[in-house]
Amino acid sequence: MSYVRWGSDGSHVYVYANCSGGFTCACSKETSNIATRTEMINHLREHVKQGDKVPLRVFKAFLWERRNFGEKQDPGNSIS
Ligand SMILES: [Zn+2]
Repeated sequence: MSYVRWGSDGSHVYVYANCSGGFTCACSKETSNIATRTEMINHLREHVKQGDKVPLRVFKAFLWERRNFGEKQDPGNSIS
């Protein structure tokens, strides 16, 4: 499942739930595998600081999911 794709709302990053139970952020500079939602939020904030565009709805999705599901991806929900 993807949170945002390249170019969607002008996004510079591609963020998705990966099949090893975590999350992946990919941009032109790097591909990062990230274990928790808090770490991903911090990672995406760094992108914004560096001038990358990350749509606000991506932050909202991670915040909402963290509140409802906790830090880790639900292992029963990893079909993408
Ligand atoms: Zn990244």
